[in-house]
Amino acid sequence: MTQLTGQPILVLPEGAQRILGRDAQRVNISVARAVANAVRTTLGPKGMDKMLVDELGDIVVTNDGATILDEMSVEHPAGKMMVEVAKTQDKEVGDGTTTAVIVAGELLKNAEDMLDQKIHPSIIVRGYNMAANKSLELLKKHSLDVSADETEKLEQIADIAMTGKGAERVGKKFGEITVKAVKQVAEERNGKAVVDTEYIKIEKKQGGDMLDSELIEGLVIDKERVHAGMPKLIKDAKIALLDAAMEVKETETNAEIRITSPDQLQGFLEQEGKMLKGMVAQVKESGATVVFCQKGIDDVAQHFLSKEGIVAVRRVKKSDMENLARATDAKIVTNIKDLTSIDLGSAGIVEERKISGDDMIFVEECKDPKSVTILVRGGTEHVIDEAERSLHDAIGVVASAIEDGKVVLGGGSIEIEVSLGLDEYAKSVGGREQLAISAFAKALEVIPRTLAESAGMDSIDTLVELKAKHQKGEKNYGIDVTRNKLEDMQKLKVIEPTRIKEQAITSASEVAEMVLRIDDIISSSGKGKGGMPPDMGGMPPGMGGMPPM
Ligand code: ADP
Ligand code: MG
Repeated sequence: MTQLTGQPILVLPEGAQRILGRDAQRVNISVARAVANAVRTTLGPKGMDKMLVDELGDIVVTNDGATILDEMSVEHPAGKMMVEVAKTQDKEVGDGTTTAVIVAGELLKNAEDMLDQKIHPSIIVRGYNMAANKSLELLKKHSLDVSADETEKLEQIADIAMTGKGAERVGKKFGEITVKAVKQVAEERNGKAVVDTEYIKIEKKQGGDMLDSELIEGLVIDKERVHAGMPKLIKDAKIALLDAAMEVKETETNAEIRITSPDQLQGFLEQEGKMLKGMVAQVKESGATVVFCQKGIDDVAQHFLSKEGIVAVRRVKKSDMENLARATDAKIVTNIKDLTSIDLGSAGIVEERKISGDDMIFVEECKDPKSVTILVRGGTEHVIDEAERSLHDAIGVVASAIEDGKVVLGGGSIEIEVSLGLDEYAKSVGGREQLAISAFAKALEVIPRTLAESAGMDSIDTLVELKAKHQKGEKNYGIDVTRNKLEDMQKLKVIEPTRIKEQAITSASEVAEMVLRIDDIISSSGKGKGGMPPDMGGMPPGMGGMPPM
């Protein structure tokens, strides 16, 4: 290496902003906490909703943590890290997003106090990491078993995931639909239950009441048949899935066609007609009575199909094609010439129905379909969107419960139990990490505290009482937000999959640790976002109406 002398060396471009050490931590922590505070009041069944307005004036009314943070378009990097926590939680479990973000905020708040006491960040990070691992152990220890046959319990889990959200009123019905749907697509792989939730399609149609929502044992496609002459209803349908156009494309043959006489033109058109007729004949020969085509269908082909009494739908989305294949047990064929009877799927009914003025294709009464659809109805777009988000959470929790077979009691009871366990653990660890582990334990109390607050209870008294109960061994106690008192959560059936809490604690801890490790924020010139005050400067102007955070 060359010798460096006293000359200062510039490694950053001109105009770059830099915040170092304690200041960097202070900025990042306050931004992260601001994000956590933004969703805090939405926690639990008594949580409030937020109205988000974007630049175009579009409105979203929601109680869903992940959605709120997504719509807020947070720009500060530390804020974005918090949004990632919600997104990960949403992807991994589908529920528990608010919990994850609030816990992360509280971990950082407690870390701030320790930093003020001159405890080095690396000690805090170590302690938090140890505490997070211990929490996972404690969660396992306090978990109860649930099996896929316990329908009622699973419906209850779905119901709890939806309380406080838009679909609460229809929680019972949605719970039933959700459990049926999840069980239907669940598969066994290597002796383990696996649920691919993407095989539960949620199709929204405005109009009617949320109670009109239904589970379709198959698929609903927002399309109509290509030709009015085709039958509207086919029973015992034999279904062909084509990933090929029923068209003759000149560009594909890449040949130039010179037509010099009307006879030639006639000949050419006849030739084209013959080819299309051939394609239809191939479909007919396979025995198909319904064709779903991912690409286009030529007018002439439509005409011939209609004459054969075959129903055809064109330009079907790729995801719908895949779900159709799973629902009807059909094979997607990429070359019409290859289509034979063994590629066909089946459905009891294929029917075009008018739903609130729009034609939709129902493929239902499939035998043991591995893909199903929930058709969501509701008076307005906002209602339907929030219903969809509720269903998404419900599907996530039921799937997690079936996959893992483990649940815990909610209402803040599991958080207190883990918190007390961590306190014990902290004592056994000793040293300076002990402080960080205790701070972690304390941070988990934010969940029961916030639930108590949202119910209008005295949060400090409630927390003291709740801890006392748990210390006496009454570990099922949590916050009954409806009757504003402490109650046995098993009795109230407030159950949640263990995975929600595992994921929430893991990602909250990870983001807190990540933020704490940063002691240098370098922002390139012009942007200077790292140096901006924690006012979440990235919010669209339309959101000026939100309370200051
Ligand atoms: P998240 O996005 O974290 O899932 P929610 O707004 O769904 O946030 O609130 C979840 C919290 O509310 C959990 O701690 C859960 O135990 C609690 N909760 C849900 N239903 C009830 C209930 N009926 N009584 C008490 N607590 C409940
Ligand atoms: Mg929830």
